Amino acid sequence: MKLKNKNDALFEEKNIYSEDMYAKGIYPAVQGDTHGYVARDDSERMSAVFKAKHGNVYVLRFPEKLGALRVAAVKTDPRDLSEGETLSYEVSNRLRFCEGAVDQSPMLYTPNCCDEYLVVYTGEKLKIPFYIGEAPVILGHDTDDEWFYAGPQQDIMGNADSWADFRWNAGEVYENIYEKKLRPLYPGKTESVFIGKEDSGKYDMRAYIFTPEKYEKTLFLTGGVHGEEIDGYMGLARFLELCFGSDGSNRSLARVRDGVRLIVVPIVNVWSSYNGHVRTNSKGVNLNRDFEKHTQAETINVLWLLEQYKNEVAALIDFHTSIALKNDLYYQFSIQAPNSAVCRRTCNHIYEALRARKMDFSPTRLEYVPGAYEKADGFLQGWVWNHYKIPTLVCEHHDIRWAPRHSAIGHELAAEFYGNFIIQTALSDF
Ligand SMILES: [Zn+2]
Repeated sequence: MKLKNKNDALFEEKNIYSEDMYAKGIYPAVQGDTHGYVARDDSERMSAVFKAKHGNVYVLRFPEKLGALRVAAVKTDPRDLSEGETLSYEVSNRLRFCEGAVDQSPMLYTPNCCDEYLVVYTGEKLKIPFYIGEAPVILGHDTDDEWFYAGPQQDIMGNADSWADFRWNAGEVYENIYEKKLRPLYPGKTESVFIGKEDSGKYDMRAYIFTPEKYEKTLFLTGGVHGEEIDGYMGLARFLELCFGSDGSNRSLARVRDGVRLIVVPIVNVWSSYNGHVRTNSKGVNLNRDFEKHTQAETINVLWLLEQYKNEVAALIDFHTSIALKNDLYYQFSIQAPNSAVCRRTCNHIYEALRARKMDFSPTRLEYVPGAYEKADGFLQGWVWNHYKIPTLVCEHHDIRWAPRHSAIGHELAAEFYGNFIIQTALSDF
């Protein structure tokens, strides 16, 4: 494999293929695309079972006969099955092909749960060599970087002692947070930029550009692409306040404030904020599927702003809220992008930070999606990486898994986790 950038080193394959890895014969009886059975069989169809470590990313390379090989994820070790027993499995959507020629493309896999097994099989009576490599990041492995702790926060319930009100519309967020809290704190230049009306033509979309006297890096930050994901843009805003008001005791905060230009679109789905905080815009369009075709004013306005800074933006981070219970931690980035390592390292810190809090349970699921965003051009993160080659990251704080929605602890965790992604992205050289 040709190395294109330093993170490609993560994919250098190890040849751990061996006869020992083959199970005795696991025969896939595929039923449609997503279900089937893995059953022991005396056929000569070759297969391997590989126990996947939670948090790692696996790289499978098939030098030839790619079409004949398949991979499935199962929750129990199929080698423990008795004769005749069957085991259901799912062909995971977390198996992604990288870019490149089909017969050279590595397949990437990230486990969703602890103790998943990866089953590699073929329907042909051929031994097809393949390689499995681990992208060497293990959940729980920590680094020496200084971690930012937000400390105890106020909630965003809209009470007298709240920091904000989750019901605020975009105009109130601009005024009450960006104008009244952030602008007076920021030591450099704060610009409020009108970037256009949202699609119904009724409400203004604004961006805030925070420019220190000297800066080496520019980050593009967006929130509220999905209107109901309120804790996302509130957590981002609170982090900015803590950062701009930093007393220097956390060196990272001061370094971001004094050396990084931040272009912030606080709320992309502005219409929703005036209309019940629903997911979609006035036309019922999910904006995070509209970026490639950019048919809606909201996506056009964001891309218009990005166009002006595209040669200077080091990375784009889009802040969402994971409102489904499916994943304890949800982050998405392209594993081919140069920010891949820093994103995964930060994921690890977050995992450690959550465990250190000794909550009722430990996080057991993580979804970070490797791949080239090959079919995700409708997504902001996909389009910007694929089209502009600007590294992107979506980070989603879970707004009910760790604490009640809009609560003080939820707000603290959002500010802390979003903030650390900003810090690490800003201060890393990639
Ligand atoms: Zn979202």
